[in-house]
Amino acid sequence: MRIAIVGAGPAGLVLARVLCRHGVPAAVHEADASPAARPQGGCLDLHPESGRRAMREAGLGAEFESIARPEGEDHRIVGHTGTVLVDHESAGTDQRPEVDRADLRRVLLDSLPAGTVRWGQRLTSVDDLPDGARRLHFSDGASADCDLLVGADGAYSRVRPLLTDARPASSGSAWIDLGTVAAGHPAAEIVGRGSFWALGEEKVVGGQRRAGGEVGVSISLRVAPGRGTTFDVAELLAGWSPAVTALVEAAAGPAVARELMVLPVGLTWPSTPGVTLIGDAAHLMAPVGEGANQAMLDALELGLALVARPDDPAGAVAAFEAEMVARTAPIAAESARMQEMLLAPTAAEDMTRFFTRSAGAPGS
Ligand SMILES: Cc1cc2nc3c(=O)[nH]c(=O)nc-3n(C[C@H](O)[C@H](O)[C@H](O)COP(=O)(O)OP(=O)(O)OC[C@H]3O[C@@H](n4cnc5c(N)ncnc54)[C@H](O)[C@@H]3O)c2cc1C
Repeated sequence: MRIAIVGAGPAGLVLARVLCRHGVPAAVHEADASPAARPQGGCLDLHPESGRRAMREAGLGAEFESIARPEGEDHRIVGHTGTVLVDHESAGTDQRPEVDRADLRRVLLDSLPAGTVRWGQRLTSVDDLPDGARRLHFSDGASADCDLLVGADGAYSRVRPLLTDARPASSGSAWIDLGTVAAGHPAAEIVGRGSFWALGEEKVVGGQRRAGGEVGVSISLRVAPGRGTTFDVAELLAGWSPAVTALVEAAAGPAVARELMVLPVGLTWPSTPGVTLIGDAAHLMAPVGEGANQAMLDALELGLALVARPDDPAGAVAAFEAEMVARTAPIAAESARMQEMLLAPTAAEDMTRFFTRSAGAPGS
């Protein structure tokens, strides 16, 4: 069976690895021109029942441990005037270590046979062939035929329209990536070793320590759909604690907001032989720490389903899809609720209650 995976994000790479480990070849077609074509962004905390499990069952447990940072689980929450609300120092046993996205991608890429990922191949169109196969066309002029097409191509998937008319819609919030503050900069001390949130006035200033010691800084805020995307940060944070505004000023990236989009919770489609979706392409959700974890678990479960039923890929895909929706729909609903809580006028009180009641920490 010829398997084509579109997208070399966490979902696509874990799937390729799981298949390859079981002797099933697959090609990954990725739009980026090379592994270094764009920065991979900040960190992810991988959860034991999803992202970490996927790495372990992909045979990459030791490699994951070598890049995982247990101290990254520390989290500090302050109110917008600087009052410390939560200050949790991890003993390294909380089970959700942080990992830099770039390190995770490198470990996954290194685990694949050379040539598995075809860089610079953005999927542009798909033709149905008379024998039930599909022909994929790419931006570099190449084409490839496959018997199973897996859309692991993220929020704006080109594979998704083959299965459903659903499109991502605004979540009502946006995310401003302000760049990083250098390791050792005094303004970054407030962040500590892990994650930092300053909450108030329906905004969140986030800081996250990365493997090299630098701190990624961001602002999440409510936006009306379609509203302009550039903000005056000084105006946004007028009256906030000087320690918080110092962190933001030290990062000083362009304050361009990216609207956070979501798919309908519990999205389904009629199972269709020869094509399926995993990860954000299937269940794009509010980014509070589950998207990549669920994407990696999707990849593991689809890979194992295909390996277990080599003579019935359509049955394997249909069973996988039903399980994926049942698993991810409640998580997407909870993520939306958590996002609302973070941007509520009462966020400081609500999050303090949440953290003192549970050990879980949302991602950033
Ligand atoms: C601000 C923010 C913070 C987040 N924090 C966390 C967190 O802490 N924890 C967590 O678990 N999740 C987090 N997430 C969610 C997480 O980033 C995603 O859920 C995860 O990356 C999904 O993985 P994926 O492989 O499905 O898609 P992606 O990571 O989006 O990868 C898709 C890949 O497909 C490629 N591609 C796209 N279109 C095409 C095409 N037409 N042809 C070929 N290739 C294509 C892209 O270049 C990309 O490499 C966060 C998200 C955001 C926005």
